[in-house]
Amino acid sequence: MSSISERLHDVKEKIARAAAKAGRAADDIELVAVSKTHPPEAIHEALDAGHALFGESRVQEARVKIPLLPGRARWHFIGHLQKNKIRHALPLFELFHGIDTLALAQDLNRVADEAGAHPRILLEANVAGESTKFGFKPDVLQKQMEELLALDRLQIEGLMTIAPLAAEPESSRKFFAALRELRDALQSKFRVPLPRLSMGMSGDFEVAVEEGATLVRVGTAIFGARSSKAFRPVASED
Ligand SMILES: *Cc1c(COP(=O)(O)O)cnc(C)c1O
Repeated sequence: MSSISERLHDVKEKIARAAAKAGRAADDIELVAVSKTHPPEAIHEALDAGHALFGESRVQEARVKIPLLPGRARWHFIGHLQKNKIRHALPLFELFHGIDTLALAQDLNRVADEAGAHPRILLEANVAGESTKFGFKPDVLQKQMEELLALDRLQIEGLMTIAPLAAEPESSRKFFAALRELRDALQSKFRVPLPRLSMGMSGDFEVAVEEGATLVRVGTAIFGARSSKAFRPVASED
C-alpha cells in the first residue's frame, strides 16, 4: 500500500489535472485533508509531506487531537455543528463548512459575539433534496439569505454541499453544477461576494474541480479507510 505522502501527491496531481482541463488555476483549489478518526501520527505524516490543512467533523475528537499537533496545522470544521459545541469549536477552526440552518447561524452569531469572534462560514445546501441530509433547501436559503446576511458576526464566504452517495463520479456533476448556480443566483440577488464552493470528496473531487470547487474535502484517498481502530477520544461534554 502506498504512503500518505504518496497518496497526497497523487490527489494533488489529480486536482491540478482537473483544474487544467477546466481552464482553472490549480492554486484556486484548496485541498482539505479530512483526518477525522485518524490518529495524530497520520496527520504528522501529512504535515511532514508539506500539507497543512485538515478537516475534522466532531468537536470532541478535535478538542483532543488539535492540541497534540504543531501550530502550523490549520483546521476546518466540516461536520454538522451542534449548538452545545459551538463555544469549544470557535477557537479551533478557521472555517466552518456545514452551517445548515438559520437557527444554528443565529446561535453561532450569538456565541461569537460573546467570544469576540468573527467566524468564517459556508452555508450547507441540500441541492439534491435528499430528506436524510443536512443543509438548507435552495428555496429556503433564498428566503432566509437576508436574515443570514444580517448576522453581523458571521463572515459568509460561500456554499458547501455533499453529493448523494453514488458509484460513478459523474453522478455528482449535476449537484455540483447546481451548487455553483445557486451561489451565482445568491451573489447577484443579494449583491454579496460568495467566492468559496466546498464540494467533492474522495469519490468525486475531480468532477467537483471541473464544476468550480474552491475547496475539496478528501479523506479516504489520502489516509485510507476509516477503521474500527479509529481515534475516538473521550472528552468532557462541556
Ligand atoms: C468524511 C467526510 C469527507 C471525506 O470523505 P471521503 O470519502 O473519505 O473523502 C468529506 N466531507 C464530509 C462532510 C465528511 O464528513
